[in-house]
Amino acid sequence: MSIKVQNISKNYGKQKALDDVSFTINTGEVVGFIGPNGAGKSTMMKIITGFIPQTEGTVMVNDLNTLEHSLEIRKRIGYLPENNPLYLDMYVKEYLKMVGEIYRRAGGQEGRKAKGLDKRVDEMIDLVGLDLEKHKKIGALSKGFRQRVGLAQALIHDPDVLILDEPTSGLDPNQIVGIRDFIAELGKDKTIMLSTHIMQEVQAICDRVIIINLGRVVADDPTEKIQSQNLDAFQTIEMEFEQVISGNSLKQIHGVVKVKKIDSKHFLLEGKPNRDIRSDIFQWAVKNKVTVLKLAKREKSLEEVFQELTK
Ligand code: ADP
Repeated sequence: MSIKVQNISKNYGKQKALDDVSFTINTGEVVGFIGPNGAGKSTMMKIITGFIPQTEGTVMVNDLNTLEHSLEIRKRIGYLPENNPLYLDMYVKEYLKMVGEIYRRAGGQEGRKAKGLDKRVDEMIDLVGLDLEKHKKIGALSKGFRQRVGLAQALIHDPDVLILDEPTSGLDPNQIVGIRDFIAELGKDKTIMLSTHIMQEVQAICDRVIIINLGRVVADDPTEKIQSQNLDAFQTIEMEFEQVISGNSLKQIHGVVKVKKIDSKHFLLEGKPNRDIRSDIFQWAVKNKVTVLKLAKREKSLEEVFQELTK
């Protein structure tokens, strides 16, 4: 199932939360939707899932218009909303059964009826690792287990598409790894869009990244490409010399635009955009009889790329 977002804008009163956003997510892709808080991620997800209408533009899910086929589309989409609202007084099994029942009454997939809802609930509990917690009230669960209940409710009707709004927010590092692995596994046969403001999350799970800032898409590329493109655009070289070097002499090297001194023998050199300055540095060193102990391209993290694109 594909998602086609075409020229979507959303106004909340005078505030423009989304401004002419377009992108496509193809069947089977796992796409990270990232941006700082307030960028418009949740708003976009609510529009795709048909929970709120857009001000302008069209969203097509599997070639169906979300405004005209909202019910049909919701049956095919699993949605984990921001802050994962749950009924805290309900028991885990009771809650999942209720959600399953809603889908069944709405005319969910035929297979569900034949199999029986109890069996499906047990399958989901098993799938998300809730076996030890299944007889507890949701209010008594830790944040990580509540998030698993949220995932189970998003999956109970066996949707083809999953829309997950900040699935790991508020979890501890072990829980984060657990949920990430689980999502990566689901991504093998479902189309997934997940929002986050954590870059490592995208690196760990997603094939593609859409970066949004102030309601506009600022980048849309395969995860690896986003990193390497920006690496090359802003190259930094880490240098170590055998002898003491003056920063001013390094500024003379062709292509070097910035010199940062770490100590008298260590420097960071920044080159002109889209230019490899390593051979220039090497030639300068040979000409000036300087012994180079280290010359290394400094890896820029996706975190830094994100900051550069959204600052
Ligand atoms: P994100 O999920 O990226 O943090 P949101 O989509 O929640 O961003 O919000 C985008 C912008 O729209 C924010 O400035 C937010 O304050 C505003 N906003 C979100 N929901 C509402 C609402 N119901 N009413 C008014 N403004 C809202």
